[in-house]
Amino acid sequence: MAARDRYSRKLECARCRNEGFAEVSEADDKRLKDPDFKVDFLPAGFTSERPSRDPAKHMIRCRCGHVFAFKQKSHYAPGGDPRR
Ligand SMILES: [Zn+2]
Repeated sequence: MAARDRYSRKLECARCRNEGFAEVSEADDKRLKDPDFKVDFLPAGFTSERPSRDPAKHMIRCRCGHVFAFKQKSHYAPGGDPRR
């Protein structure tokens, strides 16, 4: 098994300003075509609308009904804040 990279990323709803930190993981090897992205934890008020193994296609739904891609405007450098 390849090592998995775990990190948290801030989610912020553009409509109601609900925010929190999601815990996610993906394959450590960035050369892989399939990052095998997975959301392990979502903060209160957010749910997975359409899960995907690609963070740019993984859709998050906010409690206000606003749906957005997990990876859009990033508050951090690409790849997020690695936690080891
Ligand atoms: Zn919202």
